[in-house]
Amino acid sequence: MKIILFDIDGTLVKAGGAGARALDHAVEAMTGHKNACASVQLQGATDKANFVNAFAAGSGRRPTARELAALTRKYVDRLPHEVLWSVKTKKYFKVKGVEKFLDRLAGRKDALLGLGTGNLKNGAFIKLEPSGLTKHFAFGGFGCDSHHRSEVLKKAVQRAGRLAKAPIKGGDVFVIGDTHRDVEAAKEAGYHSGVVLDGFGDKAAIMRSNPELIAKDFSDMKPWLIWLGLMKDPRGVRRGTYICPDSPIEHAHYGRTGMDLRDIELGMKKLREAKKKAAGK
Ligand SMILES: [Mg+2]
Repeated sequence: MKIILFDIDGTLVKAGGAGARALDHAVEAMTGHKNACASVQLQGATDKANFVNAFAAGSGRRPTARELAALTRKYVDRLPHEVLWSVKTKKYFKVKGVEKFLDRLAGRKDALLGLGTGNLKNGAFIKLEPSGLTKHFAFGGFGCDSHHRSEVLKKAVQRAGRLAKAPIKGGDVFVIGDTHRDVEAAKEAGYHSGVVLDGFGDKAAIMRSNPELIAKDFSDMKPWLIWLGLMKDPRGVRRGTYICPDSPIEHAHYGRTGMDLRDIELGMKKLREAKKKAAGK
């Protein structure tokens, strides 16, 4: 049984800043400080960590446990309004190709789809609601499970094991996200990692984190299905040694060097030219 865990923000949907606005609203209600999220790096962290940092940006100190609970309530209360606002102003999007990709995966008996997200559980479903994708996710790991993204993923896998009524091996878990933090968490937990570049992640940081698969989005399902071991690689290359670049050599090149995208593109250009020369073209 393969377990496929999806991050939400930037991986399944882009909610048009609804989460940040809801958090800004909650921090302002408690501290009077406007736009607290402007000075906080939200992407790839858990909601709880973001709440603490945004509150600190507003008040100059960490919240007490009671304040954090109140802030969380205010955030969750406000979130549906902000998500609806994003939908109304046409700032809410599904990541390209994700609907068809999920439909394809949902038809398989050998794969279980779950969420692996820093969002609080109720926040996660509020954000997903307008996308119509919620039906695909029977379980998940959430920001309310732990501050640590790798623990969140492990929790999701525990729940998957209960659903599958069998223990799950790390090698059968595939984590799909949009930031280097998703990759780091997956690696820390001993799972596979794939990244969409069209989300909110920093490209150079993603490259350095060295996930097994990098793709712009899900509009071309093939590399994803090959990576998941659900489709045979037409080149006959073993899964895990081949990713988006044209050849395993190119992948090995950037996997080893960890250079950022621009350097890699320059390197690839050189490689391709050398290959053409060698082939006498
Ligand atoms: Mg994300």
